[in-house]
Amino acid sequence: MVKLQGLEDLLQSQLKQHVKKIDEEAYYPREFLLQLGKSGYFQSEGLDYSEVLLREARVVEETAKVCMTTAFNIWCHLASLTYIRATDNMYLKNNLLPLLESGELLGATGLSNPMKYYAGLEKLHLQARRVDGGYTISGTLPAVSNLGRDHWFGIIASIDNNQRIMAYVQGNVERLVFKEKLGYLGLNGSATYACQFDDVFIPDDWVIAEQADSFVEKIRPAFVLYQIPLGFGVTGASIQSIDKVCSRQAGCNKYLAVQSDELSEELQQLRSQLEHYITQTDLREQWKGLLNVRLQTVHLTSKATHACMLHQGSAGYLKCSPPSRRLRESYFFVNLTPTVRHLGKMLS
Ligand SMILES: Cc1cc2nc3c(=O)[nH]c(=O)nc-3n(C[C@H](O)[C@H](O)[C@H](O)COP(=O)(O)OP(=O)(O)OC[C@H]3O[C@@H](n4cnc5c(N)ncnc54)[C@H](O)[C@@H]3O)c2cc1C
Repeated sequence: MVKLQGLEDLLQSQLKQHVKKIDEEAYYPREFLLQLGKSGYFQSEGLDYSEVLLREARVVEETAKVCMTTAFNIWCHLASLTYIRATDNMYLKNNLLPLLESGELLGATGLSNPMKYYAGLEKLHLQARRVDGGYTISGTLPAVSNLGRDHWFGIIASIDNNQRIMAYVQGNVERLVFKEKLGYLGLNGSATYACQFDDVFIPDDWVIAEQADSFVEKIRPAFVLYQIPLGFGVTGASIQSIDKVCSRQAGCNKYLAVQSDELSEELQQLRSQLEHYITQTDLREQWKGLLNVRLQTVHLTSKATHACMLHQGSAGYLKCSPPSRRLRESYFFVNLTPTVRHLGKMLS
């Protein structure tokens, strides 16, 4: 049984009042994210991996009902956490994992470009050079979210055509330049920065995997899995919003093509599929199935946010109304790696 006691209270008392500021003023909900960790929602000790995944997926979903930007920040943290849970590097496991799981440290991920690289979409942006005691890294990542100087994030860099390494980088390391990225249609409260590495020294203690190619196969199912509930939450909130206005104008909304019961049914089917995959012993074997659920969830989320705009009418058409915020945020879900076209390629 997934334990989520107190989460709803936390969302109502510590996140809800900030949602407008997150959306309109690029406010980054750092305290809320840390509070989730302090409340035990990222602890893995004594639990089966499937219990951890189920609970964390629900945390993402419940948060996305209130604010998808914040839920995306949680996804960044969970992707990061996945790398450190899976590494054989005992320095990272002993020193950083407890902090990441207890709300003392926030994590991020710069793996979009590597995910595209492994799917044959683009070249790796970062290069690594072996030096005494570690590596130096050069190149630029166009966007890393949930970032701060005291946060850590995962990267992959190529040494040559035959080897790539994965490392964990502290935001305040020398010769790493952050450039804040704003002006997006949504998601501006995601603390997103372009990261320019200019011969940044990474000690051996920070190397997650010397053989990134095989390590990625281990972590990518959870990377994608944790994204799916972003769409579930936004869809769930859209359904609630549609139901709220069903009796307006003498129930005229019943003439609209997409109704909430159809959306609920599709959501339930996808949730059952996700829960089925989570409870399987080796997630690597569920890779294609997870990609398929991820793709279907994108389409359902787009359908639900669009339908909600129609049901809400001019109330939804206000620039920062919850339906229009969700519509804007849903376009990010479409463009989050693996994007719809990237998913299409991997499933072909
Ligand atoms: C708000 C936000 C947060 C993100 N957070 C992360 C993160 O935490 N970690 C991570 O690894 N990735 C992150 N990404 C990247 C994201 O996951 C996807 O990789 C990206 O949105 C996919 O876009 P794309 O396929 O168009 O490829 P892109 O990588 O965006 O670019 C494809 C091509 O378009 C060009 N291009 C990109 N932007 C522009 C522009 N403004 N004008 C003209 N040309 C352009 C690029 O140079 C490239 O040639 C983030 C992106 C956004 C928008």
